Amino acid sequence: MSTQISRDVGCPKCGAAVPTRMWQGVCAQQNPELRVRALEETLFDWQCPRCGYRAQLVYPCLYHDRERGFMVYLAPNGSGREFQPVDVGGKFPQLAGVKKRVVSSPAELKEKILIFEAGLDDRAVELVKYALAGVLDKKHGEKAAEGYFVSADERANRISFCFFPEGRARAIPRSTRFDAYRKSLEIAAAAAETEAERNSFLPVDALAARGMLGEYLGAQEEK
Ligand SMILES: [Zn+2]
Repeated sequence: MSTQISRDVGCPKCGAAVPTRMWQGVCAQQNPELRVRALEETLFDWQCPRCGYRAQLVYPCLYHDRERGFMVYLAPNGSGREFQPVDVGGKFPQLAGVKKRVVSSPAELKEKILIFEAGLDDRAVELVKYALAGVLDKKHGEKAAEGYFVSADERANRISFCFFPEGRARAIPRSTRFDAYRKSLEIAAAAAETEAERNSFLPVDALAARGMLGEYLGAQEEK
């Protein structure tokens, strides 16, 4: 179920107190228009009716896609990693089989929706992205500050991303063979989630990819 609250937001430009509707919970099936706005990254757009000032007002929001079985909790201001995983699956058994993720920006929320709607495993996608970011850095000297999944085409054997190097506005598109994703699925499977992890809102990002890769390579060395 989608849930909303109303709060007065002080306009940073003219100081007007603007009653603002905020979505605490977004249900993709109940409000398909909010799903579209999340994908357009306009869900958190805010405008002052008095002076016209526009801004992005990002607040905590839980996105839920019941049909596809995933939830993404947007915890802004980099609070995603510090967000204490709670035993959601234990407390709410009906959510035990639902994929739960935590992200820290509207761009990451959009990325998770794209990945899960494409029926992909986000841990494997993060591993491919991590490898591509590494190539970008080593071969081209471009350190990617951010990188996002764009699309996947299994038949054309392609998986595509875009990277935003530090200090540059221009995005660098990068793609690789979909086979890289399949290989990454094996690595992700080797780092199986514990029950506690499955029951919590997990951050699955570059840091998680590095952890999975380290675990996999460590196990290879032991063999
Ligand atoms: Zn204003």
